[in-house]
Amino acid sequence: MAREFISGFWYNKSMKNKYGIPEEKLNEIRERDKTCVYCHKKMIKPSDGGQRRDWATIEHLNHLPPWNNPDTVAFCCSSCNSSRSNKKIIDWFKTSYCIDKNINYDSVAEPVRNYIENNEKL
Ligand SMILES: [Zn+2]
Repeated sequence: MAREFISGFWYNKSMKNKYGIPEEKLNEIRERDKTCVYCHKKMIKPSDGGQRRDWATIEHLNHLPPWNNPDTVAFCCSSCNSSRSNKKIIDWFKTSYCIDKNINYDSVAEPVRNYIENNEKL
């Protein structure tokens, strides 16, 4: 299942998101993930314009449903999001995108490492 890209989400006044994640939870995650959880790039709101690759996007650390579990949600930049697509994170680390940017288990943000520890290293 391809994960969808929801770049217009950030300033959604209806305070709803298509995944059914509680907005409060998302705000907490947004506060936590000030920079991309993978490449640590400073992200911008899509409403601020700029380069699409720098936009903050909702990232599902899991590559299979359910999509509404806040524990598996993080924020990453649009370019990491589209590069990873629906790969497992540990498989994505082997791609040239990650190798070039030096993105690996040791470099990513803690929530990602926790996710890998609990879900991908079984
Ligand atoms: Zn990134």
